[in-house]
Amino acid sequence: MLVLDLGWIKVFYYQDREESELVSRILHLKNLTDTCRTWIEAPLRLIFPDVCQVCMDAAASAGEGYVCERCVGSLRRIQSPFCRRCGLPFDGEISSGFECPNCHGVRFFFESAKSSVVANTLMLDLLHRFKYQGCLWLEPLFERLFLEMLSNDHMRQNWDCVLPVPLHSVRQRERGYNQSALLAEKVASGLDLPFYGKVLKRIAPTPSQTMLNRSERAENVANAFCVTGDKAVTSKCVLLIDDVLTTGATTNACAKVLLKAGVRVVSVRTLARGLGI
Ligand SMILES: [Zn+2]
Ligand SMILES: [Zn+2]
Repeated sequence: MLVLDLGWIKVFYYQDREESELVSRILHLKNLTDTCRTWIEAPLRLIFPDVCQVCMDAAASAGEGYVCERCVGSLRRIQSPFCRRCGLPFDGEISSGFECPNCHGVRFFFESAKSSVVANTLMLDLLHRFKYQGCLWLEPLFERLFLEMLSNDHMRQNWDCVLPVPLHSVRQRERGYNQSALLAEKVASGLDLPFYGKVLKRIAPTPSQTMLNRSERAENVANAFCVTGDKAVTSKCVLLIDDVLTTGATTNACAKVLLKAGVRVVSVRTLARGLGI
């Protein structure tokens, strides 16, 4: 085991782990708190300069989530035209007789869903690092993408509180955090709304949706969630946050139990939109 002693911070590096994990941990340490940042960064910058963790070439700071402007430019923001119900983006004009293939024949319990960017190769890679490799230093970038999208949201004045899509307790213990809760907390603080991290609970350890088709996804999560502490959200207009939305099956299952528990309206906003199902 290697120990990096940087003043009052010690970084432990187990040599059988990937070097990237060490970098992730250190970069996350650098993000820990604003008050400590200057203390921590001065010695760390000597070892790990502020470099974009995508292209490993251009400069990128902790405040940018270590992704440079050029790489951020490779993310595709979702702009009009898109389906007003589920947020699916389209090329060209949407006519009055338009019917979205994702919404067709589906009953959505949320008033609308919308995502910041398309889940292209780069975005999927960043999300994978954030979810599974502990790259929490990406948070400032994700926060910025969320708040950019929400700044002109038609529902912005209506939301009373922010909730994350929960992880099952077993998976959360394994991972150490719920990526959606981290994002939802940032969104709540950016919008100055209360964050309720424990109102929605995942009661079934459902397998990943990745390999499932549309109907299997809906079935997989149909009874996966419940609401605890109903009083906090009774008659409220809720902003539900997740990292990625593909068919909307997961967030729809959450919205269904929330409405049943007395929530008035549920809006779904996610960082990325998966296409191709
Ligand atoms: Zn870059
Ligand atoms: Zn749609």
